[in-house]
Amino acid sequence: MSLKGKVAVVTGGGSGIGRAISVQLAKDGAAVSVWDLNSVSAEQTVEMIVNSGGRAIACAGDASAKIEIARSAAMTRQSLGAISILVNNAGISSFTPFMDISEEMIDRIMAINIKGPMLCCQEIIPDMLNAGWGRIINISSSSAQTGAPMMCHYSASKGGVIAFTKSLGLELAAKGITVNNIPPGFIDTPMLRQSPVDIEKQIQVSPMKRAGTPEDIASACAFLASEQAGYITGLTLGVNGGRVMP
Ligand code: NAP
Repeated sequence: MSLKGKVAVVTGGGSGIGRAISVQLAKDGAAVSVWDLNSVSAEQTVEMIVNSGGRAIACAGDASAKIEIARSAAMTRQSLGAISILVNNAGISSFTPFMDISEEMIDRIMAINIKGPMLCCQEIIPDMLNAGWGRIINISSSSAQTGAPMMCHYSASKGGVIAFTKSLGLELAAKGITVNNIPPGFIDTPMLRQSPVDIEKQIQVSPMKRAGTPEDIASACAFLASEQAGYITGLTLGVNGGRVMP
């Protein structure tokens, strides 16, 4: 599927799923703007893309802060052109019993996981409206579909991402812009490795007897970003090895 001529923004593109998505979209021909808090890891993703013959730039900044989003978007437009694909991937997780979750933790999770994607959409949708074409892919979580103990704040934020996807999908449906979400389930990334999850145990109880890879998510994302996915909007496309069958 060709994304030639498209400009993609991937938030949290310096690590795990976001890095794999950035690399895949570039492989399919998009110029990619890699947004991440961590400038070193964002530059590493750019290097991977450029070394394989692709086009990419890094923008260091907080994808949940309006001013920094505007700055990264301006840099992207100046270097690569108007933005046609937005992947809201940046996110944080936390494992805490519900009664111990502080107000600060709730605010932080909500700011990065749901406010950030909404602000990035507000910044970038005007480019898509001008072009009459756009693809927005939000990375949610299977924890929002199944519930997840110790993750009430996280799963609530990701449930918000799923509901936001549907509402925005309807609002933009007649404008040539699709809005979809992918809830990953159990993907082997630095986020998963840093969590208290017993990875081996989870693999044993999973239908496919393996963890997902960031590339599993990237292929689904590249499809949703493509021309061929133009009649799909508001979809929750689970990529979870059969762990969740809603
Ligand atoms: P990851 O390896 O921790 O990567 C997340 C990246 O996002 C990191 O580079 C991080 O930078 C960056 N980031 C965090 N907050 C940011 C912000 N405010 N602005 C810009 N960048 C920010 O995590 P991952 O596993 O690839 O997760 C990617 C997405 O998938 C997340 O939304 C996550 O909730 C979702 N997800 C993952 C799994 C899984 O099993 N891995 C399952 C369900 C959902 P720093 O490293 O500097 O913090």
